[in-house]
Amino acid sequence: MGKKRKRRTKKQVVVKLWIVLLILIALVIGTIYGTVKLMNHNDNNNNNGVSSNLLGISMEKLQETKASNTQEEKTTSVSLVMVGDNLIHSSVYKDANRLAGGGKNQYDFKPIIEYIKEEVKDYDLAYYNQETVLGGSELGVSDYPTFNSPQEAGDAMLDAGFNIVSLATNHTMDRGEKAILASIEYWKKHEDEVLAVGTYTSEEERNKVQIREKNGIKYAMLNYTYGTNGIAVPKGKEYLVNVWPTDLSINDPSKDKDYQAYKEQVKKDIEAVRGDVDVLMVAMHWGVEYTHTPTKYQEDSAKFLADNDVDIVIGAHPHVIQPVTWIDDTLVIYSLGNFVSAQLQDQNYNKMVGLMTSVNITKTVKNGKTEIKIDDVKNELIFTSYNKSSWSNFKVVPFSNENIGKYLSNYKSVYETYKAVVQKMDSDMYVVPAYGD
Ligand SMILES: [Zn+2]
Repeated sequence: MGKKRKRRTKKQVVVKLWIVLLILIALVIGTIYGTVKLMNHNDNNNNNGVSSNLLGISMEKLQETKASNTQEEKTTSVSLVMVGDNLIHSSVYKDANRLAGGGKNQYDFKPIIEYIKEEVKDYDLAYYNQETVLGGSELGVSDYPTFNSPQEAGDAMLDAGFNIVSLATNHTMDRGEKAILASIEYWKKHEDEVLAVGTYTSEEERNKVQIREKNGIKYAMLNYTYGTNGIAVPKGKEYLVNVWPTDLSINDPSKDKDYQAYKEQVKKDIEAVRGDVDVLMVAMHWGVEYTHTPTKYQEDSAKFLADNDVDIVIGAHPHVIQPVTWIDDTLVIYSLGNFVSAQLQDQNYNKMVGLMTSVNITKTVKNGKTEIKIDDVKNELIFTSYNKSSWSNFKVVPFSNENIGKYLSNYKSVYETYKAVVQKMDSDMYVVPAYGD
């Protein structure tokens, strides 16, 4: 299932051999020393603590070395869970308004994700993608195609335990700079509890990647979107949203000059932070909507990120799920699909089924060397349910939840369809069983 990160160098192996050799010598000396001691046994025991210094090596030194080598090995770990696009259509915020009692600008999204909260509480780190800008109701909330969402949508995610959020999406520019700045202000108000990435107020802020730490494990996230739905990012304000452009009319990453040129920027971003963190994640807003198959661009970017030592690539935007796989020791989730959304329930619920992928990250420090291992990858399918006729009663339900049957009667067959998607590139990829299986 998991793969080990191999950062062990040849030098380390040589050091290891030396330690083994020294321990063996220590044992031999110990035996000789014991024998000598027995032979010279006297009641004053004045030999005690003074090594016989056979072969010119001090016994105490050897014992010290042996002890410190065992002491030096230290293991810590963090668990991480990830979900996809929080896509706040008007029917979703109207439902949240109803749940809050219907008052003007009153919203409560918490009941919508109550089942998710139950699971998220078990994780140290929880990531999601905020697809629509949380510009807040002061700017006037709005629906597709130019979204602006209530900030209470963010409150519910924080309440559920989410503490990492990506903000660079094709909808970031929907309501212009004003909404982006209002959203950044909102996230900054909560910066002690959440790491928000992808949109910035200055070039300086953009280039100073935030590093966070949990259980002694340092992590950071970079975030890029393929574009901003044709709404231009103001000249000189490219820091507002990270755009790694792709031109689907070319549809060939090798011939797409702007796409290739931006790789230099991504490389620079990675190099600026890679040495300072244990875990580097990149959230990619990429791909083509409603397709379960990654595009050539997605595959090219994933390979590029893996080659540049990124640990986890987290994809979103297609609104449907895509496979989860490994490229060498980099975990690549091509698309987590939707989280909360009000898209159509057609095509076997493809837009209502998302992924909640979790991993365990272990850091082992031994003799001054750090090894990071990502394993225990679990992919849980989740379902966003709502009443088809009233476009209300939104609820996100994991397929493993005992209540899933109440929201989706044929959940077992739907589960099988999307389990196959997750495993399309890697048949060993673990998918959490549906309830009752
Ligand atoms: Zn998107």
